[in-house]
Formats: sequence, structure tokens, C-alpha cells
Amino acid sequence: MPFSRLGLESRLLKAVSAAGYQQPTEIQEQAVPKALAGRDIVGCAQTGTGKTAAFILPILQRLGKGRGVRALVVTPTRELALQIEEFARDCARFTGHRTLAVFGGVGYQPQAKKLRRGVDLLVATPGRLLDLHRHGDVRLDAVETLVLDEADRMLDMGFWPDVRRIIGLLPDGRQNLLFSATMSAKVLGVIRSTLDRPVRIEVQPSATPVEAIDQSVYPVSAMQKSELLVELIKRQGLERVLVFTRTKHRADRVARVLKRQGIKGSAIHSNFSQSRRQKALEAFRRGKCRVLVATDIVARGIDVEDISHVINYDLPQDAEVYVHRIGRTARAGSSGTAISFMSPEEAGLLRAIEGLIGSTLDCRDLEDFTYAHRVVPSPEREAKKTRRLVYNGGARAGRRRRRPRRRPAAAVRA
Ligand code: AMP
Repeated sequence: MPFSRLGLESRLLKAVSAAGYQQPTEIQEQAVPKALAGRDIVGCAQTGTGKTAAFILPILQRLGKGRGVRALVVTPTRELALQIEEFARDCARFTGHRTLAVFGGVGYQPQAKKLRRGVDLLVATPGRLLDLHRHGDVRLDAVETLVLDEADRMLDMGFWPDVRRIIGLLPDGRQNLLFSATMSAKVLGVIRSTLDRPVRIEVQPSATPVEAIDQSVYPVSAMQKSELLVELIKRQGLERVLVFTRTKHRADRVARVLKRQGIKGSAIHSNFSQSRRQKALEAFRRGKCRVLVATDIVARGIDVEDISHVINYDLPQDAEVYVHRIGRTARAGSSGTAISFMSPEEAGLLRAIEGLIGSTLDCRDLEDFTYAHRVVPSPEREAKKTRRLVYNGGARAGRRRRRPRRRPAAAVRA
């Protein structure tokens, strides 16, 4: 279906073609006409589905002329706020609306000043928005459309009390658009209490990873993860890699190891200033840096095209986060690869992920890598006979190891 059949007016069709979009994505095809009709929407959509345009385009079309902030997008991270506002600004060049992103971690006054000059569409993270409101620098009583973007993430990050406060400041009768990658019971509760008979749009069954992603697990002891990472990147010549670690400290450490090994990589996490994060992102976008090592919170907002590999250096504690992480590759229809390192301590986390996505991940090893420890997957994995196990001791990689006898759970042997 062409964009012209979605009910968008010519100014916005121009914006779409300026963005280089030829055909609407599935979420755009479904959401745009409903949003243009003024309906509340619940969009269950993963990252990379094109959900930003699915709400920005109808908002701009309905915005018309008026005073004050009339469209408000609330989003969990600064990076996401910047990205959404960037797209909104590009489109608003064709409609004449004023857009702004406000978020914490940067100067307050410049944002307050810009707000005073007038903003039609505001993209905000919850804390800064409430600050601005408390000080009388923003009024929210003219908001006609509210977007709650990445609602599940906002709940997970503990933003919900703030979001509730924001909702309390908005006028009744507005349009609400809620987007979430997953639909947990918590999110459904929010939908029931906030939205008015929403149209539900689901472009992927909830918590199902994008099918185009080749997903695999590399069992490895915790001690050898960095070595394995370096070998994988070097041997396979990986160029656009996003690596996830559990902590900021580990992200720094992995970035240092890569540097020592002559691989251009950089860490990015919330201890960094906004400008340092932007710099790291820019270097990665331009290909000056091959590997970005990130923690979950900051990675949420990374919209970089052509990430070929997502590597879970550490498995996430929460299985749903796995879905978000791997959604960073295979954006907007391209294919991608997701590799997860699994130390024996993480066997339970892998089980939870496999339970959530409803399939068993392919277990692989790196040919001729000298594993200092033998990592044995759990007996259930053995029973499925899908495993190629990892071991060392001079044995050739890739051969199926004999089935261990009555091993109770994943374990490492020196
Ligand atoms: P989003 O899910 O909104 O973060 O979008 C993911 C990526 O898809 C972004 O890089 C968008 O620029 C891109 N995108 C969104 N809609 C389309 C479209 N209709 N055609 C091609 N690319 C798109």
C-alpha cells in the first residue's frame, strides 16, 4: 500500500518522501488511519518497526494552528527523545510546526527559553518535564494528543509515578497513543486506567523477536568472554557490532580490552555526559568505531542503521530485555545476527529467554578457539540434541561431545 492511501495530506506525503520512505511499514499502515481518525491506540511494536513515524505523521496532520504545547510525547531516554524530535522536526518543516525535545542531564535554562518562544510538539523524558512544569516553564493544559512511547520500559525504569503525575496535568478528552514492545500485565493495567476504548494494533506477537535475526548462544566461562569477543570480531571481520554488558563498569572494561586488541570500540553508558554519548554514537554511525559497548538503559535510544551483530556479552536478567536488545539489529526489514555468550551461571537466564520466545536457541562454538574451561549446557539442552558443546583440551571444535552423565545443571570444569 502506498503512503498516499493512508489519508495523509500532501505536506506530510512530501515529508515522508524527503525521509526516503517509499512504503509504509506494517505499524504505519495500521496506525496512521486510526490515529488520523482521532482514536486512542495501543501499539504493540518492537523497535525498528517504524513506530515513530506511525505517531508523528498523524499528530502533525491533526495539530492545526493554536497556542501552547498541543502534542506531547513522553519517552524513557534522552536518546530516544532526541531521535523522535529529530524526525518530528524534519517533518514539521513541511507543516510549519515547532518541535522541541527536553530531557535531563543538560542545561535547564536553554530548554525553558525555547519553550517560552513557543512549541507545538514537545518530546520529553518524565523527570525534566515535571521540573519544567513545577517551575512554570511549560503549560500542559492545551495538550490534545499524548504519546506514551516505550511504555514497558518506562514502567521498568520506575518512571510510572512521574508519568501518572504528567497524565494528571493533561486535559480530559485528549487522544492517547501508547506504544510498547511488550504487553505485560503492568502495561495492560496502565492501558485500562488511561486509555479510552483503544484500537489495539500488534505488528508482531508480543515478545517475539524479529524473525530475520539469526540467534545463537556461545557457551563460555565468564573469564573467557572478552577473549571470545575479540576472536569473534577479528575472525569474522565484524564491522557494526553492538555489545551489551550487565554493568557500566563491565562496558568500560570490555571497551578497554577491545582497544588493547586494536579493535576500534567505545563504551556508552549513563555515567557519560550527553555530549560524550552523542560523540560515541556519531563515531559508530559514521563507521569510525566498529563496536559500541552499551548498557541497557542507554542502548534503548540507539537508532543506528545497519547494526549487523548484537552480542549479549552478558545475558539480561529480564528475558524481555533480550527481545529489546536483539531488536537493535535487523532494523526496518534488513537481516541481522544476535549472539549471546552464556556462562554456566547464566544458564537459568537463557532458559527464561527461551521460554519467553518459545524456541531453543542454536548453540554454537567458535572453531579452534582454545576454551580454557569446559562449559556444559543443562541436561534439558542435552536431551534436545540441539547442542554442539564447547570444550578444550585440544579437541577439535564443532564435534559433538559425548553426553555428560547426570550433570545436574550447567557447570564449568577447569
Ligand atoms: P522506529 O521503529 O520508529 O525507531 O524506526 C526504525 C527505523 O526505520 C528508523 O531508522 C526509520 O527511519 C526507519 N523507517 C521508519 N519507517 C520507514 C519506512 N516506511 N520505510 C523505510 N524505513 C522506515
